[in-house]
Amino acid sequence: MENISMIIGGKPVAAATTFPVINPATGSTFATAAAGDASHVDAAVAAAQAAFPEWSSTPDAERQRLLHAIGASLEANMPALMELVTKETGKPLNGLNGVGAGMEVGGSIAWTHVTADLSLPVEVIQDNEVARVEVHRKPLGVVGSITPWNWPLMIAVWHVIPALRAGNTVVIKPSEMTPVATARFVEIANGILPPGVLNLVTGAPGSDVGPTMARHPGIAKIVFTGSTRTGRKIMENASGNLKRLTLELGGNDAGIVLADVDPKAVAAKLFGVAFHNNGQTCASLKRLYVHESIYEELCAELAKLAKATVVGDGLNHDTQLGPVQNKAQLAIVEELAADALAHGARFLSGGHVRAGSGYFYEPTVVADITDGIRLVDEEPFGPILPVIKYSDIDDVIRRANDNPSGLGGSIWSNDLAKAARLALRLECGTAWVNEHGAIQPDAPFGGVKQSGIGVEFGRYGLEEYTSIQTLKIMKA
Ligand code: NDP
Repeated sequence: MENISMIIGGKPVAAATTFPVINPATGSTFATAAAGDASHVDAAVAAAQAAFPEWSSTPDAERQRLLHAIGASLEANMPALMELVTKETGKPLNGLNGVGAGMEVGGSIAWTHVTADLSLPVEVIQDNEVARVEVHRKPLGVVGSITPWNWPLMIAVWHVIPALRAGNTVVIKPSEMTPVATARFVEIANGILPPGVLNLVTGAPGSDVGPTMARHPGIAKIVFTGSTRTGRKIMENASGNLKRLTLELGGNDAGIVLADVDPKAVAAKLFGVAFHNNGQTCASLKRLYVHESIYEELCAELAKLAKATVVGDGLNHDTQLGPVQNKAQLAIVEELAADALAHGARFLSGGHVRAGSGYFYEPTVVADITDGIRLVDEEPFGPILPVIKYSDIDDVIRRANDNPSGLGGSIWSNDLAKAARLALRLECGTAWVNEHGAIQPDAPFGGVKQSGIGVEFGRYGLEEYTSIQTLKIMKA
């Protein structure tokens, strides 16, 4: 059994007690992790503060070289990392449309290399006989990273690598449900980085590790991915020293399918972007609005795909969808499904937990449902998709926008110019045409409204790990 230690100042650190990590495909413990507390956060912040002066003044090219070395080492460890990801998240090794542990580890490697190559050039605003004005980007200090359980390794990389690239040092706290692959990543990175540059503190369920980080006066910024509810708490706790924040929170993304689309041609793509990773992705398609003229045909195609999906233990190579990651999330899915049923919705597939061990829920397509019902209004974060009929495009855009979240949205049509115009009317951080949730390491990604603050990825994401210093040199 894996036993996860914390890593503080480059050294493994145990705690007085440990807590179990469950494999959601079996419901059994497959690893244990150190139950850290506030004292470990203090020690990790102190180690990160001690490492900051040297790391922040390390030449850019050297930092880039070390980050590329981390990418190469992740690649060398890819099969083992994939297995850990599958065991702790339930995500299949391969997965529906290739969205699985392979994509998570492969994405982590790609993001590491692309981010390592980014730069923060000095911008010259003015250079004349009177003065030269330059804008410099400087690291903030210690960054605290708090990550969730759906893409634990990839999100850790999304937080840690740009923070380090910009010259910050980091304390990371993974979700108590998925600390294992992150611990391995931090261990790998510590084989390459100077001690204290990247520290890991793990906390048991309900521990004070996360809140202590959010409040900690030695942490300059928190980057958090998770629920809007927890994002609000972090924002409150972070006010003491006016921490910088990047919050990537929940989404309830709408997709709108126009009447010109061939249901048979588009169904598999739509099914994939809604159901891969069991819908447990912040920017999965979660509300599907379909024009009335193609509604029944598209619903039938989606149901056919749901029934044909191979659900099982992600360690089996032909599994497309694994279990829901945890019992509490499964309960949310069941609750929203029961509420939809009580409101007269038509279940075209699934609708129940699979008998036996593990947290399996059959892929579920729900028709004859509309806004105002919880399954549409709230984020289910599970393998269940409400399909909603519409007749008027202006009305459906209004309904898509009538939601507190604003992470992603999509328009599906053969008329690309019209679809792009409509996509720009969606209130969300990223709008896709004939796609959904497709992110890339060089394009900014983040939410509007209650889906978050700030963006990740590319130059825009990197700049969030810096503060601006303006330098004005008088010449006359
Ligand atoms: P949370 O947002 O509560 O957890 C995410 C991370 O925040 C975990 O590391 C957690 O630690 C930590 N955390 C919890 N409370 C605090 C706090 N007060 N201060 C600082 N850190 C804290 O997500 P849940 O696991 O509860 O999932 C609930 C919902 O969140 C899901 O149903 C889904 O809607 C959404 N979600 C969104 C994700 C996204 O990608 N945007 C990812 C995952 C979930 P610990 O768990 O160890 O206590």
